[in-house]
Amino acid sequence: MRILKFGGSSVGTPARISNVIDILAGYRDKKIKFDVVFSAFQGVTDKLIEVSQKAVVKTNSYKYELAHIRQIHFDAVAELLINKNDKDLLINKVTVLLSELEEILHGIYLVKELTPRTLDYVMSFGERLSCTIISDVMNCRGFETEFLDARLVVKTDNTFGSSKVNFKVTDKNIADYFKTHKKIQVITGFIGSNDKNVTTTLGRGGSDYSAAIFGAALDAEIIEIWTDVDGILTADPRRVINAFSLKAVTYEEAMELSHFGAKVIHPPTMKPALNKKIKIKIKNTFNPGHDGTLITDKDHFDHGFSVKGISSIDDVNLLRVSGSGMVGVIGTASRIFSALARNSVNVILITQASSEHSICLAVLPKDGLRAKAAIEEEFKWEIKDKVIDEVVIESNMSVIAVVGEDMRHTPGISGKVFQSLGKNGINISAIAQGSSELNISLVIQKDYLKKAMNVLHDSLFLSKEKTLNVFIIGAGHVGGSFLDLLSEGKIYMINNVHVKVRVAGIANIYKMIFDEKGINLKKWRSLLESSKTETDVQLFIDKVKQMNLPDSILVDCTAGMNVVKNYPAILSSSISIVTPNKIANSQKYPFYNSLRELAKEHNVQFRYRTNVGAALPIINTLRDLISSGDEIVKIEGVLSGTLSYIFNTLRDKDNFSEIVKEAKERGFTEPDPRDDLNGLDMARKLLILIRETGLPFELSDIKIEKLISPSAERASSVENFFEVLKKDDAKFVKMKEAAAKKGNSLCYIATFEKGKAIISVQEIGKEHPFSNLTLSDNIVAFTTKRYCNTPLTIKGPGAGGEITGSGILSDVLTISNYLS
Ligand code: ADP
Ligand code: ASP
Ligand code: MG
Repeated sequence: MRILKFGGSSVGTPARISNVIDILAGYRDKKIKFDVVFSAFQGVTDKLIEVSQKAVVKTNSYKYELAHIRQIHFDAVAELLINKNDKDLLINKVTVLLSELEEILHGIYLVKELTPRTLDYVMSFGERLSCTIISDVMNCRGFETEFLDARLVVKTDNTFGSSKVNFKVTDKNIADYFKTHKKIQVITGFIGSNDKNVTTTLGRGGSDYSAAIFGAALDAEIIEIWTDVDGILTADPRRVINAFSLKAVTYEEAMELSHFGAKVIHPPTMKPALNKKIKIKIKNTFNPGHDGTLITDKDHFDHGFSVKGISSIDDVNLLRVSGSGMVGVIGTASRIFSALARNSVNVILITQASSEHSICLAVLPKDGLRAKAAIEEEFKWEIKDKVIDEVVIESNMSVIAVVGEDMRHTPGISGKVFQSLGKNGINISAIAQGSSELNISLVIQKDYLKKAMNVLHDSLFLSKEKTLNVFIIGAGHVGGSFLDLLSEGKIYMINNVHVKVRVAGIANIYKMIFDEKGINLKKWRSLLESSKTETDVQLFIDKVKQMNLPDSILVDCTAGMNVVKNYPAILSSSISIVTPNKIANSQKYPFYNSLRELAKEHNVQFRYRTNVGAALPIINTLRDLISSGDEIVKIEGVLSGTLSYIFNTLRDKDNFSEIVKEAKERGFTEPDPRDDLNGLDMARKLLILIRETGLPFELSDIKIEKLISPSAERASSVENFFEVLKKDDAKFVKMKEAAAKKGNSLCYIATFEKGKAIISVQEIGKEHPFSNLTLSDNIVAFTTKRYCNTPLTIKGPGAGGEITGSGILSDVLTISNYLS
């Protein structure tokens, strides 16, 4: 026979209860014999605690809470039964139980006392009510069941709240009881009684344990724990987005994971099963077809990874005992532990630095101050003599446990742990590895818990997969094209690793949206449009920081300074930046330099290949040249698509002002073409290239020869500008003719040579690589020590949303190479 157990999550609503009964009908039809343990309906145990706490402080509102509890159970009866007689019978039983509960609560209210013993009694109503109801409903649906109040057979000590089971008596009681009760037993989980028949409980979440107690006593073939997830997952799915379910774990692994917070199974559950070598299966009530996870003594599956799971204790205090008086002194550690044991403090984790200068201990927050006082009392003389310091206590810390039996045969796990957390700016305050090497535990600040869990999970389980969390601010022309590219949902293959890009935040000038699980990019435009949140740069950035997702990248597609001024703070929060925005890199040199230093310090990337020439490999080529030891002699370039177009057209046409107008009409210029013609955009790009060579250049070091007359530059409006610009036409005709006489043409070129940088109109001959540019192509020529006769030339379309979007994508994907 099997023992099945359904948790609160499986019996949260009448519909769920029906679903459970359907699963049981499947067993019955297949003639599989079973008895079944149930928890209280979801949330009911919490409510019973709440109602008692209200009653004890004489809050009359406890009556409303009680009415709510009553309603939950009456509703279940009303929905699950059809026949009036059946209903009336069950309502009677439920009413008796609820009246008993009401009486005891009234007692608590009157005497203003709520002992652990009374609370256990109050909590027992949750399971007694749920099993009373389910047993009757099953009988009405053709099963032959009996309600079994586990207090009759499960015998415990008096540790109310988490009682220890007396297995000798309990096992016998259960065996005897089942000899005379042959119907399907519907058993209350969680509860038992002491030798005086006073109600006790087995600890929160203890129904799993009840199932194992019955399973072991009856030599069940298997114990099935039915819950709301597909078995034991590599981590809590509410925390870790990429968690996935494991085919099998060993009893030890399951115990270790649950001790360190994996709520999916109550820690002591494994003991009775292990003693009798009874397998436990964790199954999903909402996905019964899924195999779930097997808990067994030997895991024969080849999982392909040596770690099995990551779990956490969310809230601990870290105590640090240090001082010169500890070095080489035998017995310090044992005195600490004896002092803590005398004060009933349970130590979760200990580490000692090899210098023996300090010992760190993690304890539950409720024990923190007591532990500090106990240690200080034990060492009061040493503290007085200043050979041991006062105990430092840090709150808001969490413990993460990385668990897996195969870790002991696999070197390098701790290295991976350190590296991946370091790259995400997460500091480890203490680390401990059990001598069995079944568990590596680390203490970090609680604020980083979720991020750390995700980082560790992905680096330990998904080393062949990486997910980048991207936030895009400025989803206009370029940003929009980038998003459209991503909406194809491709998984990219970078250095043998599958890289996924998840977009967790988008803002355009009007609205912003966030979703840490990833925005559906197929409809990002409509989602953004229907968003209720107006864009606020500061709020956007705060939210990105606060979401604290691993491997986060901010893509800044805005053109102004607003986002740029936040770059230092963004990099300092271990968030990488990718941007086509040239403003940051053309700020004063100290700012430029600080961005690089911050990125290095925080192990993140600042990438901006689209600053010059959109997706053309200009900056990357320059970097490659320099890093391979070449020396830059000269940089020449037509770095503006607009000016390229204007001068390419000027080769065949005469009218400069007409050409500019045409360029504007074709969408090749800024709304005000003067923003292109003033040469500033070219100067910024040249500056970025010069700085890339390592020179601390400033924008003011670049000479810009004016293209247009001051009066055109000052014109009051764009229309007016075109009028005034006509006056410049003759000047260009003259320059063109003078050049043509020598067989040359005009080109607006950015040049850097011998420490001097200039943006100017130059005459170039037919043999010059820039003389056959077409449309709005960009071109750069690097003359270097290696490329001295023929410069290294890069040419191609250097503007446009789609192409820039692809350059941004390339930068984003490159970042995956730098992750752990
Ligand atoms: P039940 O009501 O069935 O006893 P619980 O809420 O006690 O269910 O336990 C199931 C929950 O445990 C899951 O919904 C999940 O959020 C949480 N959980 C925590 N860690 C893990 C893990 N490693 N694997 C699966 N679930 C986990
Ligand atoms: N109902 C109890 C609780 O909520 C026991 C359980 O669910 O396992 O803690
Ligand atoms: Mg549970």
